[in-house]
Amino acid sequence: MDYSAMKTEEQKKEQEKCLAEYRKYQELGLSLDLSRGKPSAEQLALSMGILDSLKSTSVLHTQNGTDCRNYGGLDGIEEAKDLMRKMLGTKQTNVMVLGNSSLTIMFLLFNHAMLDGLLGETPMCMQKKRKFLCPAPGYDRHFGMTEYFGFELVTVPMKEDGPDMDVVEKLVASDETIKGIWCVPKYQNPTGVVFSEEVVKRFAALKPKAKDFRIFWDNAYCIHDLYKEEHEIPDLLDLAEKEGNGDMVYEFCSTSKVAFPGDGIAAFATSPANMIAFKNYLKQGTIGPDKINQLRQVRYFHSIGEIKKHMKKQADIMRPKFEMVERILEEELGSAKIASWTNPRGGYFISFDTMEGCAKRTIELCRDAGVKFTPAGATFPYGKDPKDSNIRIAPSFASAEEIEMATKIFAVSVKLATLEKLSA
Ligand code: PLP
Repeated sequence: MDYSAMKTEEQKKEQEKCLAEYRKYQELGLSLDLSRGKPSAEQLALSMGILDSLKSTSVLHTQNGTDCRNYGGLDGIEEAKDLMRKMLGTKQTNVMVLGNSSLTIMFLLFNHAMLDGLLGETPMCMQKKRKFLCPAPGYDRHFGMTEYFGFELVTVPMKEDGPDMDVVEKLVASDETIKGIWCVPKYQNPTGVVFSEEVVKRFAALKPKAKDFRIFWDNAYCIHDLYKEEHEIPDLLDLAEKEGNGDMVYEFCSTSKVAFPGDGIAAFATSPANMIAFKNYLKQGTIGPDKINQLRQVRYFHSIGEIKKHMKKQADIMRPKFEMVERILEEELGSAKIASWTNPRGGYFISFDTMEGCAKRTIELCRDAGVKFTPAGATFPYGKDPKDSNIRIAPSFASAEEIEMATKIFAVSVKLATLEKLSA
Protein backbone atom coordinates (compact mmCIF):
# COMPACT_ATOMS: atom_id res chain seq x y z
CA MET A 1 0.00 0.00 0.00
CA ASP A 2 1.12 3.54 -0.83
CA TYR A 3 2.75 4.76 2.38
CA SER A 4 2.07 8.42 1.74
CA ALA A 5 -1.68 7.70 1.46
CA MET A 6 -1.74 5.94 4.86
CA LYS A 7 -3.30 7.57 7.89
CA THR A 8 -1.11 7.92 11.00
CA GLU A 9 -2.78 4.91 12.63
CA GLU A 10 -2.19 2.75 9.57
CA GLN A 11 1.44 3.80 9.44
CA LYS A 12 1.84 2.83 13.07
CA LYS A 13 0.34 -0.62 12.43
CA GLU A 14 2.55 -1.10 9.40
CA GLN A 15 5.59 -0.10 11.45
CA GLU A 16 4.74 -2.69 14.12
CA LYS A 17 4.31 -5.37 11.43
CA CYS A 18 7.66 -4.49 9.80
CA LEU A 19 9.42 -4.38 13.14
CA ALA A 20 8.18 -7.87 14.01
CA GLU A 21 9.43 -9.17 10.65
CA TYR A 22 12.76 -7.37 11.10
CA ARG A 23 13.26 -8.85 14.59
CA LYS A 24 12.70 -12.35 13.23
CA TYR A 25 15.50 -11.76 10.74
CA GLN A 26 17.70 -10.38 13.50
CA GLU A 27 17.23 -13.54 15.55
CA LEU A 28 18.74 -15.59 12.71
CA GLY A 29 22.17 -14.09 13.49
CA LEU A 30 23.05 -13.73 9.79
CA SER A 31 26.23 -12.47 8.20
CA LEU A 32 25.56 -11.47 4.58
CA ASP A 33 27.27 -9.05 2.22
CA LEU A 34 25.91 -7.25 -0.85
CA SER A 35 28.62 -4.60 -0.90
CA ARG A 36 31.17 -6.39 -3.06
CA GLY A 37 31.20 -5.52 -6.76
CA LYS A 38 33.27 -8.49 -7.75
CA PRO A 39 32.66 -11.73 -9.60
CA SER A 40 31.54 -14.85 -7.76
CA ALA A 41 33.67 -17.98 -7.50
CA GLU A 42 31.42 -19.57 -10.14
CA GLN A 43 32.28 -16.77 -12.58
CA LEU A 44 35.97 -17.04 -11.79
CA ALA A 45 35.84 -20.77 -12.51
CA LEU A 46 34.95 -19.92 -16.13
CA SER A 47 38.43 -18.46 -16.64
CA MET A 48 40.59 -21.21 -15.16
CA GLY A 49 41.82 -22.19 -18.62
CA ILE A 50 43.74 -18.94 -18.74
CA LEU A 51 46.30 -20.54 -16.43
CA ASP A 52 46.90 -23.29 -18.97
CA SER A 53 47.13 -21.02 -21.99
CA LEU A 54 50.92 -20.82 -21.56
CA LYS A 55 53.22 -23.69 -20.64
CA SER A 56 56.97 -23.98 -20.34
CA THR A 57 56.90 -25.56 -23.80
CA SER A 58 54.83 -22.75 -25.39
CA VAL A 59 56.28 -20.39 -27.96
CA LEU A 60 56.67 -17.21 -25.98
CA HIS A 61 57.32 -14.92 -28.92
CA THR A 62 54.70 -12.55 -30.26
CA GLN A 63 53.54 -12.54 -33.87
CA ASN A 64 56.19 -9.96 -34.74
CA GLY A 65 58.94 -11.91 -33.05
CA THR A 66 59.24 -10.21 -29.64
CA ASP A 67 60.40 -12.62 -26.95
CA CYS A 68 57.94 -12.01 -24.10
CA ARG A 69 60.37 -13.47 -21.59
CA ASN A 70 62.68 -10.51 -21.99
CA TYR A 71 62.68 -6.74 -21.39
CA GLY A 72 61.24 -4.31 -23.91
CA GLY A 73 58.01 -2.90 -25.27
CA LEU A 74 56.93 -0.04 -23.02
CA ASP A 75 53.41 0.04 -24.45
CA GLY A 76 52.59 -3.68 -24.58
CA ILE A 77 52.54 -6.38 -27.24
CA GLU A 78 50.81 -5.79 -30.56
CA GLU A 79 48.27 -8.61 -30.28
CA ALA A 80 47.17 -7.39 -26.83
CA LYS A 81 46.82 -3.84 -28.17
CA ASP A 82 44.68 -5.11 -31.02
CA LEU A 83 42.42 -7.12 -28.70
CA MET A 84 41.99 -4.31 -26.18
CA ARG A 85 41.42 -1.70 -28.90
CA LYS A 86 38.51 -3.82 -30.14
CA MET A 87 37.21 -4.23 -26.61
CA LEU A 88 37.25 -0.46 -26.21
CA GLY A 89 35.58 -0.14 -29.60
CA THR A 90 38.12 2.37 -30.82
CA LYS A 91 39.67 2.50 -34.24
CA GLN A 92 42.66 4.21 -32.76
CA THR A 93 46.06 2.69 -33.13
CA ASN A 94 47.15 4.85 -30.19
CA VAL A 95 46.55 2.19 -27.62
CA MET A 96 48.87 0.93 -24.93
CA VAL A 97 48.40 -2.15 -22.81
CA LEU A 98 50.04 -2.05 -19.42
CA GLY A 99 49.70 -3.96 -16.17
CA ASN A 100 46.88 -5.45 -14.18
CA SER A 101 44.80 -2.36 -13.43
CA SER A 102 43.14 0.44 -15.37
CA LEU A 103 42.82 2.43 -12.14
CA THR A 104 46.61 2.42 -11.90
CA ILE A 105 46.88 3.93 -15.39
CA MET A 106 44.45 6.68 -14.34
CA PHE A 107 46.52 7.25 -11.22
CA LEU A 108 49.72 7.49 -13.29
CA LEU A 109 48.05 9.98 -15.62
CA PHE A 110 47.24 12.21 -12.68
CA ASN A 111 50.85 11.96 -11.52
CA HIS A 112 51.94 12.92 -15.03
CA ALA A 113 49.52 15.87 -15.10
CA MET A 114 50.59 17.02 -11.65
CA LEU A 115 54.33 16.82 -12.26
CA ASP A 116 54.82 17.44 -15.99
CA GLY A 117 51.69 19.35 -16.95
CA LEU A 118 49.75 18.26 -20.03
CA LEU A 119 51.10 19.13 -23.48
CA GLY A 120 52.99 22.22 -22.39
CA GLU A 121 50.51 23.50 -19.79
CA THR A 122 51.60 24.41 -16.25
CA PRO A 123 52.05 21.32 -14.06
CA MET A 124 48.80 20.86 -12.19
CA CYS A 125 50.53 20.80 -8.82
CA MET A 126 51.43 24.46 -9.48
CA GLN A 127 47.87 25.41 -10.35
CA LYS A 128 46.49 26.24 -6.94
CA LYS A 129 42.79 25.98 -7.73
CA ARG A 130 41.78 22.79 -9.52
CA LYS A 131 38.35 21.24 -9.89
CA PHE A 132 37.11 17.94 -11.29
CA LEU A 133 33.58 17.09 -12.44
CA CYS A 134 32.03 14.03 -10.84
CA PRO A 135 28.77 12.73 -12.33
CA ALA A 136 26.91 11.30 -9.35
CA PRO A 137 25.89 8.75 -8.30
CA GLY A 138 29.24 7.43 -9.50
CA TYR A 139 32.28 5.33 -8.63
CA ASP A 140 33.77 6.06 -5.20
CA ARG A 141 37.33 5.17 -6.23
CA HIS A 142 37.22 7.75 -9.02
CA PHE A 143 36.10 10.46 -6.63
CA GLY A 144 38.65 9.36 -4.04
CA MET A 145 41.49 9.58 -6.57
CA THR A 146 40.76 13.17 -7.59
CA GLU A 147 40.25 14.13 -3.94
CA TYR A 148 43.65 12.61 -3.15
CA PHE A 149 45.28 14.78 -5.84
CA GLY A 150 43.75 17.90 -4.33
CA PHE A 151 40.98 18.62 -6.81
CA GLU A 152 37.78 20.18 -5.58
CA LEU A 153 35.05 17.73 -6.53
CA VAL A 154 32.07 19.22 -8.34
CA THR A 155 28.93 17.07 -8.53
CA VAL A 156 27.15 16.81 -11.87
CA PRO A 157 23.72 15.14 -11.85
CA MET A 158 23.36 11.85 -13.71
CA LYS A 159 20.37 11.61 -16.04
CA GLU A 160 18.93 8.53 -17.76
CA ASP A 161 21.18 8.95 -20.79
CA GLY A 162 24.38 10.11 -19.09
CA PRO A 163 25.63 13.14 -17.17
CA ASP A 164 23.57 16.34 -17.45
CA MET A 165 25.33 17.81 -20.49
CA ASP A 166 23.78 21.27 -20.12
CA VAL A 167 25.55 21.51 -16.77
CA VAL A 168 28.81 20.00 -18.10
CA GLU A 169 28.98 22.28 -21.16
CA LYS A 170 28.27 25.40 -19.13
CA LEU A 171 30.79 24.62 -16.42
CA VAL A 172 33.71 23.60 -18.65
CA ALA A 173 33.24 26.54 -21.01
CA SER A 174 33.32 29.12 -18.25
CA ASP A 175 35.77 27.84 -15.65
CA GLU A 176 39.46 27.38 -16.40
CA THR A 177 40.05 25.59 -13.11
CA ILE A 178 37.90 22.63 -14.23
CA LYS A 179 40.47 20.07 -15.37
CA GLY A 180 38.42 17.05 -16.22
CA ILE A 181 35.44 14.80 -15.77
CA TRP A 182 34.96 11.17 -14.76
CA CYS A 183 32.81 9.05 -17.07
CA VAL A 184 31.81 5.39 -17.08
CA PRO A 185 29.99 5.47 -20.42
CA LYS A 186 28.51 1.98 -20.48
CA TYR A 187 26.57 0.45 -17.60
CA GLN A 188 27.80 3.23 -15.36
CA ASN A 189 28.76 2.30 -11.84
CA PRO A 190 26.31 2.28 -10.04
CA THR A 191 23.35 3.44 -12.15
CA GLY A 192 23.77 1.04 -15.09
CA VAL A 193 23.16 4.01 -17.41
CA VAL A 194 24.44 3.69 -20.98
CA PHE A 195 25.39 7.09 -22.38
CA SER A 196 23.29 8.00 -25.42
CA GLU A 197 24.79 8.82 -28.79
CA GLU A 198 23.79 12.44 -28.31
CA VAL A 199 25.62 12.62 -24.98
CA VAL A 200 28.77 11.06 -26.48
CA LYS A 201 28.64 13.55 -29.36
CA ARG A 202 28.25 16.46 -26.95
CA PHE A 203 31.28 15.21 -25.01
CA ALA A 204 33.29 15.04 -28.25
CA ALA A 205 32.35 18.62 -29.09
CA LEU A 206 33.03 20.16 -25.65
CA LYS A 207 34.80 23.50 -25.66
CA PRO A 208 36.61 23.58 -22.33
CA LYS A 209 38.24 26.79 -21.18
CA ALA A 210 41.14 24.83 -19.66
CA LYS A 211 43.57 23.57 -22.29
CA ASP A 212 44.55 20.74 -19.96
CA PHE A 213 40.96 19.52 -19.52
CA ARG A 214 40.64 15.73 -19.97
CA ILE A 215 37.69 13.34 -20.15
CA PHE A 216 38.52 10.17 -18.21
CA TRP A 217 36.40 7.72 -20.23
CA ASP A 218 36.54 4.62 -18.06
CA ASN A 219 34.90 1.93 -20.16
CA ALA A 220 35.19 -0.68 -17.40
CA TYR A 221 31.92 -2.40 -18.39
CA CYS A 222 32.24 -2.13 -22.18
CA ILE A 223 31.43 -5.81 -22.85
CA HIS A 224 29.48 -6.57 -19.69
CA ASP A 225 25.99 -7.04 -21.11
CA LEU A 226 23.57 -9.03 -18.96
CA TYR A 227 21.11 -9.64 -21.80
CA LYS A 228 21.30 -10.70 -25.43
CA GLU A 229 21.18 -7.20 -26.81
CA GLU A 230 24.51 -5.39 -26.82
CA HIS A 231 24.39 -1.65 -26.27
CA GLU A 232 26.84 -0.09 -28.68
CA ILE A 233 28.02 3.43 -28.06
CA PRO A 234 30.07 5.51 -30.49
CA ASP A 235 33.79 5.80 -29.85
CA LEU A 236 34.44 9.10 -28.09
CA LEU A 237 38.05 9.29 -29.24
CA ASP A 238 37.06 8.89 -32.86
CA LEU A 239 34.33 11.55 -32.61
CA ALA A 240 36.56 13.93 -30.66
CA GLU A 241 39.35 13.65 -33.24
CA LYS A 242 36.87 14.63 -35.94
CA GLU A 243 36.08 17.72 -33.85
CA GLY A 244 39.80 18.46 -33.48
CA ASN A 245 39.49 17.49 -29.81
CA GLY A 246 41.44 14.20 -29.65
CA ASP A 247 43.81 15.48 -26.96
CA MET A 248 40.84 15.91 -24.63
CA VAL A 249 40.14 12.15 -24.38
CA TYR A 250 41.63 9.38 -22.26
CA GLU A 251 39.94 5.99 -22.72
CA PHE A 252 40.41 2.96 -20.45
CA CYS A 253 39.34 -0.63 -20.06
CA SER A 254 40.71 -3.83 -18.55
CA THR A 255 40.12 -7.56 -18.37
CA SER A 256 39.73 -7.34 -14.58
CA LYS A 257 36.04 -8.21 -14.73
CA VAL A 258 36.46 -10.45 -17.74
CA ALA A 259 38.84 -13.00 -16.23
CA PHE A 260 40.46 -12.60 -12.80
CA PRO A 261 40.18 -9.18 -11.09
CA GLY A 262 43.63 -7.88 -10.30
CA ASP A 263 45.25 -10.38 -12.67
CA GLY A 264 44.11 -9.00 -16.00
CA ILE A 265 45.57 -6.48 -18.41
CA ALA A 266 44.60 -2.84 -18.73
CA ALA A 267 44.47 -0.58 -21.78
CA PHE A 268 44.69 3.14 -22.43
CA ALA A 269 43.82 4.86 -25.71
CA THR A 270 44.36 8.53 -26.52
CA SER A 271 45.67 10.96 -29.14
CA PRO A 272 49.22 10.58 -30.53
CA ALA A 273 50.42 13.71 -28.70
CA ASN A 274 49.08 12.55 -25.34
CA MET A 275 50.53 9.10 -25.91
CA ILE A 276 54.03 10.43 -26.60
CA ALA A 277 53.91 12.65 -23.51
CA PHE A 278 52.67 9.84 -21.28
CA LYS A 279 55.30 7.40 -22.57
CA ASN A 280 58.00 9.95 -21.78
CA TYR A 281 56.72 10.02 -18.22
CA LEU A 282 56.19 6.27 -17.95
CA LYS A 283 59.62 5.26 -19.20
CA GLN A 284 61.17 6.83 -16.12
CA GLY A 285 59.45 4.25 -13.96
CA THR A 286 59.41 1.02 -15.94
CA ILE A 287 61.15 -0.81 -18.78
CA GLY A 288 57.87 -2.38 -19.74
CA PRO A 289 54.78 -4.30 -18.60
CA ASP A 290 54.33 -8.01 -17.90
CA LYS A 291 54.24 -9.25 -21.49
CA ILE A 292 53.80 -12.87 -20.47
CA ASN A 293 50.47 -12.06 -18.83
CA GLN A 294 49.47 -10.12 -21.94
CA LEU A 295 50.33 -13.15 -24.06
CA ARG A 296 48.45 -15.43 -21.67
CA GLN A 297 45.28 -13.35 -22.01
CA VAL A 298 45.55 -13.09 -25.80
CA ARG A 299 46.24 -16.79 -26.31
CA TYR A 300 43.28 -17.67 -24.10
CA PHE A 301 40.72 -15.28 -25.57
CA HIS A 302 42.05 -15.17 -29.17
CA SER A 303 39.56 -12.63 -30.44
CA ILE A 304 36.95 -10.13 -29.40
CA GLY A 305 34.30 -12.64 -30.53
CA GLU A 306 35.64 -15.23 -28.08
CA ILE A 307 35.71 -12.68 -25.24
CA LYS A 308 32.10 -11.80 -25.92
CA LYS A 309 31.12 -15.49 -25.83
CA HIS A 310 32.91 -15.77 -22.50
CA MET A 311 31.02 -12.72 -21.20
CA LYS A 312 27.71 -14.35 -22.16
CA LYS A 313 28.58 -17.25 -19.83
CA GLN A 314 29.29 -14.74 -17.08
CA ALA A 315 25.97 -13.02 -17.81
CA ASP A 316 24.12 -16.34 -17.49
CA ILE A 317 25.42 -16.56 -13.92
CA MET A 318 24.82 -12.92 -13.01
CA ARG A 319 21.45 -12.27 -14.67
CA PRO A 320 19.32 -14.47 -12.38
CA LYS A 321 20.87 -12.75 -9.35
CA PHE A 322 20.02 -9.30 -10.66
CA GLU A 323 16.52 -10.45 -11.56
CA MET A 324 16.03 -11.92 -8.10
CA VAL A 325 16.90 -8.60 -6.44
CA GLU A 326 14.63 -6.72 -8.82
CA ARG A 327 11.74 -9.15 -8.28
CA ILE A 328 11.95 -8.98 -4.48
CA LEU A 329 12.22 -5.20 -4.51
CA GLU A 330 9.13 -5.01 -6.71
CA GLU A 331 7.17 -7.46 -4.55
CA GLU A 332 8.14 -5.86 -1.26
CA LEU A 333 8.34 -2.18 -2.16
CA GLY A 334 6.53 -1.69 -5.46
CA SER A 335 3.15 -0.69 -4.05
CA ALA A 336 4.54 1.31 -1.10
CA LYS A 337 5.88 3.95 -3.51
CA ILE A 338 8.73 4.86 -1.20
CA ALA A 339 11.72 4.04 -3.38
CA SER A 340 13.01 3.65 -6.92
CA TRP A 341 15.72 1.49 -8.38
CA THR A 342 17.37 0.66 -11.68
CA ASN A 343 16.91 -2.51 -13.72
CA PRO A 344 20.29 -2.48 -15.46
CA ARG A 345 20.96 -4.31 -18.71
CA GLY A 346 24.62 -4.78 -17.87
CA GLY A 347 27.44 -3.92 -15.48
CA TYR A 348 27.73 -4.92 -11.85
CA PHE A 349 25.30 -2.80 -9.84
CA ILE A 350 21.74 -1.84 -9.09
CA SER A 351 21.29 1.75 -7.94
CA PHE A 352 18.58 2.23 -5.33
CA ASP A 353 17.04 5.48 -4.11
CA THR A 354 15.15 5.70 -0.84
CA MET A 355 12.96 8.62 0.17
CA GLU A 356 15.17 11.60 1.05
CA GLY A 357 16.97 11.15 4.35
CA CYS A 358 16.50 7.37 4.63
CA ALA A 359 19.60 5.76 3.08
CA LYS A 360 21.94 5.93 6.08
CA ARG A 361 19.26 4.62 8.41
CA THR A 362 18.44 1.78 6.00
CA ILE A 363 22.10 0.69 5.87
CA GLU A 364 22.28 0.91 9.66
CA LEU A 365 19.19 -1.31 10.06
CA CYS A 366 20.62 -3.82 7.58
CA ARG A 367 23.91 -3.88 9.46
CA ASP A 368 22.12 -4.57 12.74
CA ALA A 369 20.40 -7.52 11.08
CA GLY A 370 23.72 -8.85 9.78
CA VAL A 371 23.64 -7.59 6.17
CA LYS A 372 26.41 -5.40 4.83
CA PHE A 373 25.89 -2.85 2.06
CA THR A 374 28.16 -0.21 0.55
CA PRO A 375 27.98 2.76 2.97
CA ALA A 376 25.30 5.30 2.11
CA GLY A 377 26.89 8.34 0.48
CA ALA A 378 29.76 6.35 -1.09
CA THR A 379 28.42 7.04 -4.57
CA PHE A 380 28.81 10.81 -4.13
CA PRO A 381 31.87 13.10 -3.96
CA TYR A 382 33.38 13.20 -0.45
CA GLY A 383 31.09 10.28 0.50
CA LYS A 384 28.24 12.74 1.08
CA ASP A 385 24.93 12.23 -0.65
CA PRO A 386 23.11 15.56 -0.23
CA LYS A 387 19.75 13.79 -0.28
CA ASP A 388 20.88 10.77 1.76
CA SER A 389 18.97 8.52 -0.59
CA ASN A 390 21.31 6.54 -2.88
CA ILE A 391 22.41 2.98 -2.12
CA ARG A 392 24.56 0.77 -4.36
CA ILE A 393 23.51 -2.88 -4.48
CA ALA A 394 26.06 -5.41 -5.76
CA PRO A 395 24.40 -8.77 -6.45
CA SER A 396 27.29 -10.56 -8.22
CA PHE A 397 29.36 -12.08 -5.42
CA ALA A 398 26.84 -13.64 -3.05
CA SER A 399 24.98 -16.90 -3.67
CA ALA A 400 21.32 -16.89 -4.80
CA GLU A 401 20.14 -17.93 -1.30
CA GLU A 402 22.18 -15.18 0.34
CA ILE A 403 20.88 -12.60 -2.12
CA GLU A 404 17.28 -13.61 -1.50
CA MET A 405 17.60 -13.27 2.26
CA ALA A 406 19.68 -10.07 2.09
CA THR A 407 17.23 -8.37 -0.28
CA LYS A 408 14.26 -9.23 1.93
CA ILE A 409 16.05 -7.77 4.93
CA PHE A 410 16.99 -4.75 2.86
CA ALA A 411 13.38 -4.21 1.82
CA VAL A 412 12.02 -4.37 5.37
CA SER A 413 14.81 -2.02 6.47
CA VAL A 414 13.80 0.47 3.77
CA LYS A 415 10.22 0.28 5.00
CA LEU A 416 11.22 0.81 8.62
CA ALA A 417 13.57 3.71 7.82
CA THR A 418 10.81 5.35 5.76
CA LEU A 419 8.13 4.86 8.43
CA GLU A 420 10.46 6.30 11.08
CA LYS A 421 10.98 9.34 8.83
CA LEU A 422 7.28 9.77 8.11
CA SER A 423 6.36 9.61 11.78
CA ALA A 424 9.18 11.93 12.94
N1 PLP B 1 36.56 1.39 -13.15
C1 PLP B 1 35.34 1.10 -12.69
C2 PLP B 1 34.18 1.96 -13.10
C3 PLP B 1 35.15 0.03 -11.82
O1 PLP B 1 33.92 -0.23 -11.35
C4 PLP B 1 36.26 -0.75 -11.44
C5 PLP B 1 36.11 -1.87 -10.50
O2 PLP B 1 35.13 -2.05 -9.85
C6 PLP B 1 37.52 -0.41 -11.95
C7 PLP B 1 37.63 0.65 -12.80
C8 PLP B 1 38.74 -1.20 -11.59
O3 PLP B 1 39.38 -1.64 -12.75
P1 PLP B 1 40.84 -2.27 -12.69
O4 PLP B 1 40.77 -3.56 -11.96
O5 PLP B 1 41.19 -2.44 -14.14
O6 PLP B 1 41.74 -1.28 -12.02
